[in-house]
Amino acid sequence: MSNAESRKQAATLRHSQIRAKAPRLEPEDQPRFVADVMLGKLAKWLRIAGFDVLYSNRFTDDELLSLSAAEGRILLSRDTRLLVRRSVRHFIFLESDRIQDQLRQVFCATATVQIPALLARCLACNEILSEISREEVRARVPPYVFRTQNSFKLCPRCRKIYWAGTHRQSVMRILEKLL
Ligand SMILES: [Zn+2]
Repeated sequence: MSNAESRKQAATLRHSQIRAKAPRLEPEDQPRFVADVMLGKLAKWLRIAGFDVLYSNRFTDDELLSLSAAEGRILLSRDTRLLVRRSVRHFIFLESDRIQDQLRQVFCATATVQIPALLARCLACNEILSEISREEVRARVPPYVFRTQNSFKLCPRCRKIYWAGTHRQSVMRILEKLL
């Protein structure tokens, strides 16, 4: 057997081992996640929807596992070498690399029927956004935005300012279609 063939066979075996041990997740009010390095886009979309998702492209496999275990976070991963490990029990194996499929799979596996909260979390650092008055942001947002938006939020960690904007409706439609 060629190297390529035996690698493929090993990968297929890992896939079936992972599918066999995939847990039925306990329903949780607001599931929290930790995502592997391949899932930056999924992490961002889940944060848009208001979920608590830890993500860093610097997390090692061991860090992912200890965050998942210590904080009761569901491990989101596409990495079969990681998921096949015996200690990995609380996970969702994302088989597709399409973001719509991934979101649908997460919503389905966690029995999510409603988006927790749009525009509640910083997309860059996962912090819960806090209220900030219009006056306080005047010098920090474009004039057009200041004129047309009534409410603003602030990330307490990175100080980024968020507002609802015009794409809010379309984001909501995309997410609701996947529920
Ligand atoms: Zn932030």
